[in-house]
Amino acid sequence: MLSTARASIRRPFTMSTVDGFVGAIGNTPLIYLKTLSERTGSSIFGKAEFQNPGGSVKDRAALGVVQDAERRGLLKPGGTVVEGTAGNTGIGLAHVCRARGYRCVIFMPNTQSQEKIDLLRMLGAEVYPVPAVAYDDPKNYNHQARDFAKDTPNALWTDQFDNTANANAHYVSTGPEIWEQTGGDLDGFICSTGTGGTLAGVGKYLKEKSGGKTQIWLADPPGSVLTSYVSSGGKLTERTGSSITEGIGQGRITNNLGTLVNELSGAFTVLDTKSIAMLYDLLDTEGLYLGASSALNVVAAVELAEKLGKGIDRPLCSNASNFFLPGSKVVTILCDGAYRYQSRLFSKQWLETKGLSDSIPEHLKKYAVL
Ligand code: PMP
Repeated sequence: MLSTARASIRRPFTMSTVDGFVGAIGNTPLIYLKTLSERTGSSIFGKAEFQNPGGSVKDRAALGVVQDAERRGLLKPGGTVVEGTAGNTGIGLAHVCRARGYRCVIFMPNTQSQEKIDLLRMLGAEVYPVPAVAYDDPKNYNHQARDFAKDTPNALWTDQFDNTANANAHYVSTGPEIWEQTGGDLDGFICSTGTGGTLAGVGKYLKEKSGGKTQIWLADPPGSVLTSYVSSGGKLTERTGSSITEGIGQGRITNNLGTLVNELSGAFTVLDTKSIAMLYDLLDTEGLYLGASSALNVVAAVELAEKLGKGIDRPLCSNASNFFLPGSKVVTILCDGAYRYQSRLFSKQWLETKGLSDSIPEHLKKYAVL
């Protein structure tokens, strides 16, 4: 259940020092996306998860699953943590493992960026890039991680997709932070999902605290089945199509998603053409250097704000009553920075091969310098 281990990684906001890498996880700023909000007549906020010390939203989940395993006696001093990951959970785990003295072994699909593989190795993780095959294939990176842990003494597969300590980390930290930062005055929350931990943990918390007033929506890349699952009232289809966005999209209902997926207000798919244009736009107008899932999330937040269609001005929150904002207030997640994808997202040649060059407005093409 999500409510166990409340307060495990939550800290009061403070300007003082924190206790090591682990103490620096969480308490990220909520950024008002000013230009975009003014342009669209809505109030769009991005939770700056790229500011976590390991550089992504997954630091919270990595710490959550390790703390949960330690508490339950599943992970002992000198033990080995094994995980299947698109990269960010692995990076979070590699940091946490270094900070706590565990060996870290990572299995990841070989379609992921070289930057993430290099970083994992620099952090001391053992990395096994494996062919990107479907979940029902025994050679899928997740199953390989599970089997490796089974065959290794004193090792634990942290199982980020189905271990709800992941969603719980967001229920006890990300959700309460957003609630505090918006003073509880929030029309919608939307984000994409990989494991579903962020969406389920934050969504459950905001739904409970707002008494259902805050709508929770899911954003999906092409190649994921979740939009059609939600829109059809629960029918799972085959995966078709693909996306440039790394770390998101799903072909099944994970345990983490299962805690919320049937209570969502809706879902929609965002095309890569829109995500890449937003990625460059956010760099140009806000100075934000973000990964593609963050850009997808912001496209979705704007669409949701338009759907919710509020036109009135209200104070942002009770302790900032002079901060009046128009339209619907929607929060999304800025999952990570572009640093770990720059050889792709800022390469003219890569964009060309993906057929995305023409999606970037002419005046923004100057940022594709690689
Ligand atoms: N964006 C990026 C870049 C990610 O790596 C991930 C996690 N794979 C997500 C978003 C989605 O987070 P979650 O696993 O909590 O659904």
